[in-house]
Amino acid sequence: MKRDLRLLSSGTAGIFTLCVATLAAASRPNILYIMTDDHAAHAISAYGSRVNQTPHMDRLAQEGIRFDRCYAVNSICTPSRACILTGKYSHQNGVPVFNAFDGTQPHVAKYLQAAGYHTGIIGKWHLGSDPTGFDHWEILPGQGVYFNPVLYDSDGARSYPGYVTDVITDLAIEFLSKRPAEKPFYLMVHHKAPHREWVPDEKYRLQFAGRQIPEPPTLHDDYATRTDALREQQQSVFLDLTRRDLKLKPPRGVALKDQAAWLNVKPTEVELTNAAGQVVKLTGDALNRWKYQRYLQDYLACVQSVDDNIGRLLDWLDRHNLRENTLVVYTSDQGFFLGDHGLYDKRFFYEESARMPFLVRWPAGIKPGSVSNGLAINCDFAPTFMELAGLPIPADMQGRSLLPLFRGGRPADWRSSFYYRYYHDPGHHNTRAHYGVRTDTHKLIYFWKKDQWECFDLVNDPQELRNIYQDPAAQPVVAKLKEELYRLKRELRDQDEFSTQLPKDGVDGPPKKWKPGYGPQNRNPQS
Ligand code: CA
Repeated sequence: MKRDLRLLSSGTAGIFTLCVATLAAASRPNILYIMTDDHAAHAISAYGSRVNQTPHMDRLAQEGIRFDRCYAVNSICTPSRACILTGKYSHQNGVPVFNAFDGTQPHVAKYLQAAGYHTGIIGKWHLGSDPTGFDHWEILPGQGVYFNPVLYDSDGARSYPGYVTDVITDLAIEFLSKRPAEKPFYLMVHHKAPHREWVPDEKYRLQFAGRQIPEPPTLHDDYATRTDALREQQQSVFLDLTRRDLKLKPPRGVALKDQAAWLNVKPTEVELTNAAGQVVKLTGDALNRWKYQRYLQDYLACVQSVDDNIGRLLDWLDRHNLRENTLVVYTSDQGFFLGDHGLYDKRFFYEESARMPFLVRWPAGIKPGSVSNGLAINCDFAPTFMELAGLPIPADMQGRSLLPLFRGGRPADWRSSFYYRYYHDPGHHNTRAHYGVRTDTHKLIYFWKKDQWECFDLVNDPQELRNIYQDPAAQPVVAKLKEELYRLKRELRDQDEFSTQLPKDGVDGPPKKWKPGYGPQNRNPQS
């Protein structure tokens, strides 16, 4: 009976208030939300990865549900985090770029806290203001660092020895151990990994250093038929990875003061010492392929630590009899290009970047081994947690609860398209701003500053290599997609066609409670 009430639609707010009041706290599901930074779904074996194995993430898929079409609506770190918290698009939550989140606005943690949940956030927050709505928070300043990280809370900063992914999990387990037993919990565990500059722990660095990672089929994409945006970007594996990204060490002759500049160079030739002690110079195609290997080896090694630590958390839940009624989510703030289209980073509305991994285990409510093809977006997470907690979904949240999809199938009135918008132009990688629409079968993208369009048939061209925008045969579908695009813009109240006035960038400054003596903590690239 209690569960039936919890799963009622959001239109029955009055009944819900009653339900929440009468439900015993213990019957409401706990929510453990685990999120990484920049982990693409195609680097998870449950999603068919060709490049790595992730047994603990796979466990979530086997014991719960795998969403194959879950997307960030603005594929970049800080904006996606704001969408997740508020259930609203960037133009409604005030975070289109790397600007500070206004913590006075309502969001899911605040609602859950007010409804009696014990709420916590541990790890990478990256929203430029201190968290609100959490009983306990302890976060990395800005991007944080991979080794011996500093985290801070409302009382100040502490330094923790060790590797950041392990440290964040330790702190998450501490939160769970100390939680008040009479309350359900909502814990967000936000990892820094596998964000650039992809620094693995020593064990996995060594394990992956010798691996030959398969290249993606689009690594050498020539961008034929596509717009100038792809030719102008500066997020190319071959052209834009720096010596720092590639973990090259400054030679002895480079003075300490000049080392940062040396590391920021994007090398066009690299000298390596081989196993026989000979110096080998890499240029051209050999250098390009080596860059891809160095990038993926470190990226995947970072993912492996995340996978281990997800296993630790799942084991902890099992040992403490919390498995049955804890909803565990694994996701990432967006996807990432793993050499796909020759790129790293994210930002673009192409599949590898915008698609998020989304794995959910909840034995009390999800059949093991489920798969959903329904179009889901990051704005859906907050409404999902609201409904799960038996709360009415606020009318201004723009996402929709995923609970009907958790139960299997897809309701007849489920969305058949969604809207996307990226603003950060030129940003860190000279990425052109764009907006667009994806349906079950097609994608239309408009680079508004260039006045250039791309359209892809995702059924016949899932790798998005052939822009059919100009094809005479595609004109009926292009017209329909445009109609849908402008319908969604109206529905979502995004009437600012070109958005040239953006909030000020830069959320990586020191925290308010920063104590001198720990810095500098933010030498990593911002994105
Ligand atoms: Ca990110």
